[in-house]
Amino acid sequence: MLSVRNLSVYYGEARALHAVDLDIEANEVVSVVGPNGAGKTTLVNAIAGVLRDREGTIELDGADLLRPASHEVCEHGIALVPEGRRIFSGMSVADNLALGSYRRAARERRDERLARVHALFPVLRERTNQPAGTLSGGEQQMLAVGRALMSDPRVLLLDEPSLGLAPVVVDALFDAIQEINESGVAVLLVEQDVTRALALSSRGYLLSDGRILLRGSARELLVDPEVQRVCLGV
Ligand code: ATP
Repeated sequence: MLSVRNLSVYYGEARALHAVDLDIEANEVVSVVGPNGAGKTTLVNAIAGVLRDREGTIELDGADLLRPASHEVCEHGIALVPEGRRIFSGMSVADNLALGSYRRAARERRDERLARVHALFPVLRERTNQPAGTLSGGEQQMLAVGRALMSDPRVLLLDEPSLGLAPVVVDALFDAIQEINESGVAVLLVEQDVTRALALSSRGYLLSDGRILLRGSARELLVDPEVQRVCLGV
């Protein structure tokens, strides 16, 4: 479904990704794990079209995603939950969610999507008129995921969703991610928490220094000595 080939990404003169190949099939959860600075954020931002200095190909069911602007990439059905959540703190929960449904198809089904997001994260319904900045960290992450779901995506890109959250909150969030996937959304999960990420995934990639070092089933990667060495310093 989503196919990334020979993708290189640059920050000015510096090349942050080197010829990355990656695939996500419909209904899969795929993880990209790797240490700090490996290029994980760069990868999801490049797929979402936020970073534009790219070479290679990115296609969704054969449709080119390299040329379209980032809002058009969203129209194709790719939604990004960025690192650090990027919610609008002064705006209400409801308005933050509404921002996610500007995509044409999603706008027509806004009420349906909102009901789905509220079913997944009931706390967002309870806090609907509250400024988003007053939510706890976990609730803010739920809002960021909810906002992405409002665009009715086919592929959800999640950048470090567990960052800074208590383990019990991460458990709830990962349960929700699994539920989202079971409802038919493919998920690309970028995480420093290797064990948790791979436990949720069918397959994974090990990224280090902007290169894919390993790819395989999540089960294989979980016990791979290279993954342990690169990610956990074991
Ligand atoms: P982290 O988990 O710390 O976010 P990461 O795996 O997501 O790490 P990236 O943030 O994608 O890694 O960074 C990959 C490389 O690109 C690093 O060497 C980083 O220093 C560099 N880089 C990231 N953002 C920029 C930028 N805006 N300008 C220049 N270099 C950058």
